[in-house]
Amino acid sequence: MTNENSYLPITLRLDDGQALVVGGGMVAANKTRLLLSRCPQIIVVARELGAEMTHWHQQGRIQWRNDEITEEFLTQHLPSMRLVFAATDDRTLNREVARIARGFNIPICVVDDPEPSTFITPAIIERTPVQIAISTGGAAPVLARRLRGQIEALLPEGLGRLAKFMRARRGWIRERADNVMARKRIWEDFVDGPGMEAALAGDDTIAENYLGAAVEKSSPKGEVWLVGAGPGDPDLLTLAALRLMQNADSVLYDQLIPETIMERVRRDAERVFVGKKRSHHILPQDEINAELIRRAQAGERVLRLKGGDPFIFGRGGEEMEALVDAGIHVRVVPGITAASGCGAAFGIPLTHRDCAQTCLFLTGHARADGTLDLHWPSLARTGQTLAIYMGLNPLKELCHKLQINGLPPNWPAAIIEHGTRSDQKLHVGTLASLPELVETRKISSPALTIVGQVVEHRRHINNDK
Ligand code: SAH
Repeated sequence: MTNENSYLPITLRLDDGQALVVGGGMVAANKTRLLLSRCPQIIVVARELGAEMTHWHQQGRIQWRNDEITEEFLTQHLPSMRLVFAATDDRTLNREVARIARGFNIPICVVDDPEPSTFITPAIIERTPVQIAISTGGAAPVLARRLRGQIEALLPEGLGRLAKFMRARRGWIRERADNVMARKRIWEDFVDGPGMEAALAGDDTIAENYLGAAVEKSSPKGEVWLVGAGPGDPDLLTLAALRLMQNADSVLYDQLIPETIMERVRRDAERVFVGKKRSHHILPQDEINAELIRRAQAGERVLRLKGGDPFIFGRGGEEMEALVDAGIHVRVVPGITAASGCGAAFGIPLTHRDCAQTCLFLTGHARADGTLDLHWPSLARTGQTLAIYMGLNPLKELCHKLQINGLPPNWPAAIIEHGTRSDQKLHVGTLASLPELVETRKISSPALTIVGQVVEHRRHINNDK
């Protein structure tokens, strides 16, 4: 079985190569049609040609060979091909073609038979030179075609015209803006504004005026966006976060950001992992600050993507200070903090009229001797909720200190492991039992601890995954 995630969509250049189609019937014609405008040398090997193929042959657009399709023939001709379609109505023969093509590492598509194929053709939307390919990895071609219909309806007719307009002016822009970043910015301004509409409508003079205006106003001024990515579920990103993720030139992120969120960052943004793991700092904070400053000064629009909210235990405040002090323009986008995300995920309210008028967000900084530096008397109170952000190691001491400062051993507490992610788990206990749960359930980071009677107010809701 092929794995549906093993197909890489690429656009293959065929204008200087040869392609082979094995078969001369209707199915072969469908594949040949894809090649006609793209490949100058299409060789069709078949005993007979159907009507369409005959027509193309008469027009001189394909070359026809009515050789017997033998191993000898294939071994001789396949190595010079860019790609091969096996499209006869003989499944065994098609597979034989595939076997030999694979031996030469020539891309082979056996029509209606993904197993021996090394590529499959997607459903294609054409607005030349713009092409959109839709693939279901061979799982559901009908679905791909249905999607094609839906996307077709969304795309303006003039898309090809717009792309040609832009292609024709790339040199002009290159003469006026000498760095890649500035050029990218000019084009982005252009496609985000009325210039694009004009080019779509074929109003090239007006479109050119707008392009000229984008060149005028372009000064590659960098900035930094401090953006909260929320607790992990991509659905909890804000619209502002998503938009900036699509516009950034580079992104600095750490290990709290899951891949499902990174997938939504624009593909060509440079990714810099600055992950901080406890006792395994990959980049110290002052180096992160220096990197942000350096990139912004070079003209980049830098996305500093942070788990949860950037201003809650994320050292976002320090980053902002360093940047503003260096004269960098900074923008801050809040995110859903872990406590809100984790509470919502398992139906635990953070405050409740009956039992919690206060909610404290806290994190523990260990002293040099490893003990926690917190004001215990104000934490060990009833009538409040504690949302504790930190690794799980200090939990034993925390639960113990809360008890010796006055909370009962059976005081409700819970750990939310990987809250809002697909593998999230809720572990409910008490101050007395919590530390043991960490051991027995092998709880791993990131995990948030909620202490207080709100834990008993939780209800099963549909948010959990
Ligand atoms: N700025 C972040 C917090 C950074 S501190 C925010 O606002 O959420 C890192 C701590 O946050 C972790 O040790 C853990 O306690 C908590 N945390 C972050 N994401 C979490 C998640 N998805 N589930 C549980 N806890 C999380």
